[in-house]
Amino acid sequence: MLVISAGIRPRDELAKLCGLQTGTRGGIVVDEKMQTSDGCIFAIGECALYEGVIYGLVAPGYEMADIVVSQLTNGSKLFHGYDMSTKLKLIGVDVASFGDAFITEPDCRTIVFEDTHKGVYKRINLSTDGRQLLGGILIGDADAYNMLLQTVNNKIVLPPNPEDLILGSRGGSESEGAGVMSLPDDALICSCEAVNKATICSTVSDLGITSVDGIKKCTKAATGCGGCVPLVKDLIAGTMKANGQYIKNVLCEHFDYSRQELFDLVKINVLKNYDLVLDYFGKGDGCEVCKPAVASILSSLWNDVIVKQDTIQDSNDRFLANIQKGGTYSVVPRIPGGEITPDKLIVLGQVAKRYGLYTKITGGQRIDMFGAHLNDLPAIWEELIDAGFESGHAYGKALRTVKSCVGSTWCRFGLHDSVSFAIEIEERYKGIRAPHKIKGGVSGCIRECAEAKSKDFGIIATEKGWNLYVCGNGGSKPQHAQLLAADIDKETLVKYLDRFLMFYIKTAEPLSRTATWLNKMDGGLSYLKNVVVNDSLGLGHQLEQEMQSLVDTYHCEWKEVVDDPALRKRFTHFINAPEEKDPTVQFEPMRDQVKAKW
Ligand code: SF4
Repeated sequence: MLVISAGIRPRDELAKLCGLQTGTRGGIVVDEKMQTSDGCIFAIGECALYEGVIYGLVAPGYEMADIVVSQLTNGSKLFHGYDMSTKLKLIGVDVASFGDAFITEPDCRTIVFEDTHKGVYKRINLSTDGRQLLGGILIGDADAYNMLLQTVNNKIVLPPNPEDLILGSRGGSESEGAGVMSLPDDALICSCEAVNKATICSTVSDLGITSVDGIKKCTKAATGCGGCVPLVKDLIAGTMKANGQYIKNVLCEHFDYSRQELFDLVKINVLKNYDLVLDYFGKGDGCEVCKPAVASILSSLWNDVIVKQDTIQDSNDRFLANIQKGGTYSVVPRIPGGEITPDKLIVLGQVAKRYGLYTKITGGQRIDMFGAHLNDLPAIWEELIDAGFESGHAYGKALRTVKSCVGSTWCRFGLHDSVSFAIEIEERYKGIRAPHKIKGGVSGCIRECAEAKSKDFGIIATEKGWNLYVCGNGGSKPQHAQLLAADIDKETLVKYLDRFLMFYIKTAEPLSRTATWLNKMDGGLSYLKNVVVNDSLGLGHQLEQEMQSLVDTYHCEWKEVVDDPALRKRFTHFINAPEEKDPTVQFEPMRDQVKAKW
């Protein structure tokens, strides 16, 4: 008889009733043969407790199944523990640990990167001679997980600057290119199904399989937790390139098109929801890659109300708020250019006090309010909208802020009015959805107090007009924006910005920031300059028109919700008790305000 007991905690009630030995914190005790305290009964997976450890992952579960098969068929295979390296998404946050994650100094050297504002923490542990990676932990950004795991497993000698492994170096993602192809043939790519690099590469070369779906069918790689999909994709591309084959950059196994191709197809065929796009151009049921990518395309093309769409680009879009710690949500109204009247400041204070919200001024010159209950969001936003505020889109892959310095109105050094220009720019592009979030900055002189060059677009006043910089980036892989056009007037700058942003929205890969998009662009900045400034593709007018249509169809997403009783009803914690708030949300005092208890 096979008993399946599924869940996060070991379901050992039946085992206890049968008198099997269980652990003090749950789990059915097993030995290396996966035998319980009754030799006739085996236990595997998340209900089994081996040497005090519950292996809550799919790969050790498969390994345990193998052990039982071996035992039942008179084999001699035994279980001796399992590598617990894994990457998971927990409540919207990527977390990963690999190798020896908990080793501490002096037995190793550690490199730590922490950004508490963005909720990113990364730590890698190196051997004391700095030559080998021993393990590490990633929270909030686990893109580098696959290559870090391969570096540990294959004992790859570290580069001279091992910090680049978590900070990234200019020029692309950690998993791309030569890194993957330089792994040894026996490198385990899919640990769930024990598929190595050689198997995947030979499936591409010998059988002509060039899709992740095909690799899944032929080798079973990437059919377990799915964490190895990026590596499998890179191996397919790397092998095809080595064989001199043309590489088609498709969105995923459900769409045989790149994002750019799909963008044009959706536009030409005037498709307005995900199911139609899938019916027309896709196959299967869709996945976590194509659903947000298509949602982003639909938003960028039609500017429809995001909460009315059947698929969304980001989990925060579901409630038009960032999901924060302790089951709380944040409220971030738009404050264009960072300029705000005393009356509006008073309203923010009153709302924050009424709903018990923690307030903080952000790096983007806005005021974040944290600690909102889901049920309170519509009422909070109703008060803010009545006072003249709009959604700040802090939850979306959209234009966030255009930061400004004081500029010529108050600053003795100011050459032009940077605040007015920042407001004008932010009002123009507010709410525009893109492959990733976008930020801008405007400085009134070369002293650059708005830090405009660390933004996706930066504008700096000069004696003769304005300089426009593009594709800069803050965050974990900082990169200065590069000069696209110098000493131009405001009208020309807005025209170039329209073209630049629309070209990015149409051609960037899903979840690709402007800096990464430029780094991967054939011809780099000179190509981009040709397209935007010299109109080398003859698309300039079209890009401007497309941007204008997005500007003309702008709507405040929160106003749409506040004015629509059916949409407001979605903001409830319990569907069957809409008035009830989440009882697990708790706060504790902190510096005359509160913070979430969790
Ligand atoms: S960037 Fe120039 S104009 Fe702006 S605040 Fe700084 S010194 Fe003044």
